[in-house]
Amino acid sequence: MILLNGKETADAIKLEIAAEVEAIVSKGGRRPHLAAILVGDDGASRTYVASKEKACSQVGFKSTVLRFPADITEQFLLEEITKLNVDADIDGFIVQLPLPKHINEQNVINAIDPSKDVDGFHPVNVGKLSLGEPTFISATPYGIITLLEHYNIETKGKHCVVLGRSNIVGRPIANLLSQKGAVGDCTVTMCHSRTKDIKSYTLQADIIIAAIGVPQFLKSDMVKEGAVVVDVGITRIPADNKNGFRLVGDVDFETVAPKCSYITPVPGGVGPMTIISLLKNTLRAARNRA
Ligand code: NAP
Repeated sequence: MILLNGKETADAIKLEIAAEVEAIVSKGGRRPHLAAILVGDDGASRTYVASKEKACSQVGFKSTVLRFPADITEQFLLEEITKLNVDADIDGFIVQLPLPKHINEQNVINAIDPSKDVDGFHPVNVGKLSLGEPTFISATPYGIITLLEHYNIETKGKHCVVLGRSNIVGRPIANLLSQKGAVGDCTVTMCHSRTKDIKSYTLQADIIIAAIGVPQFLKSDMVKEGAVVVDVGITRIPADNKNGFRLVGDVDFETVAPKCSYITPVPGGVGPMTIISLLKNTLRAARNRA
């Protein structure tokens, strides 16, 4: 079994991005600038935004975080997005999800200028991704593809079972892996909460992408020998440590790992790859604008 080490891979890509940023700056160019909007006080969201800020500083990007209380109106948020859309100093920005219940997430996503939508959630970018056109690929699927590519994992002709059909992970990764070309050409099966007998599908899979948010859902009797397993899930479960929680994936790592050819750990797998992909998209946005 080989560990798909997202942290190590992301650290290597960070060095490449940092070198490119210094090259841009030394030629008189601007540092790429990523902004994030954080609404409310959700602990996990604060942690994600803090990691994104830290990663920006590590590669020499400028970063700005706009923090708003949970009780702002949707209209207020839409106006803040309009300001970022027209701010010439911002190359790309994200709105950290989830948003408070009274704010319609799709309205917010639709308001983002697609050329600054480095999360790749805007319908224009989702549409381009579906058509296989160059675009901002949303960060988690982009990170998974990059990780598979980094470890030279053959996808052509393989059967990939994706667990989960969300717009931010399951659906786009299923789309990408089924497209023609490198890190594609898979036969993809997508499973979700209404799928009957999920095990009958996962047992046929050469590659399993688990993105459902159910801790340790995938057990060893659901995986065939030699499968590649990518665990996207991150759930905080109570633990007797200083944080009061620990992170658990959708895969029962201890029992599944021995059967795998490759597997991602949680943490240190898909998470760091997601952040690095956001940086790659921001660099791409900055290049497009230059
Ligand atoms: P989501 O929007 O809640 O979608 C979950 C999907 O899983 C849905 O399609 C749901 O089916 C399906 N599902 C739920 N329970 C199931 C079950 N028991 N059996 C089969 N399918 C089931 O979640 P998400 O945003 O895609 O995130 C999934 C997980 O990945 C979460 O743990 C999240 O924290 C994590 N995540 C990690 C990263 C990272 O950077 N590592 C990034 C994004 C998300 P229905 O459609 O039928 O409801």
